Amino acid sequence: MRKTRKCAFCGREFTCNSGSQRYCSEHCAEAAKAQRKKRQQDFLKAVQPVIDIASQEYLTFSKAAILMGCSRQYVYKLVNEGKLPASRISNRMAFIRRQTLRRCLLAILIIEYCQHTSL
Ligand SMILES: [Zn+2]
Repeated sequence: MRKTRKCAFCGREFTCNSGSQRYCSEHCAEAAKAQRKKRQQDFLKAVQPVIDIASQEYLTFSKAAILMGCSRQYVYKLVNEGKLPASRISNRMAFIRRQTLRRCLLAILIIEYCQHTSL
């Protein structure tokens, strides 16, 4: 007896020839493969900046913002308020050390938590 199954790509019913067949046609199998590849690439594209940044010792404000999950403006605000030390190397260039960032983030979280709970 031949079994029918739903194609994992287009959703149409088809008669399968083998137990492991997931797609109704060569076309759907190819399309599904391309879709998987695209998703994988999109994922890598999304996480690559974070992977790159996580291994750098000196961060620009933009990169620090990506790591902190906040806006670049917020990084500027923290630096201007003296909450986040930055090393200025020229009028236009300033860096934040990854180590410093980690320590300051923790300190800011503790301060904000204390203010929030009025400790
Ligand atoms: Zn199909």
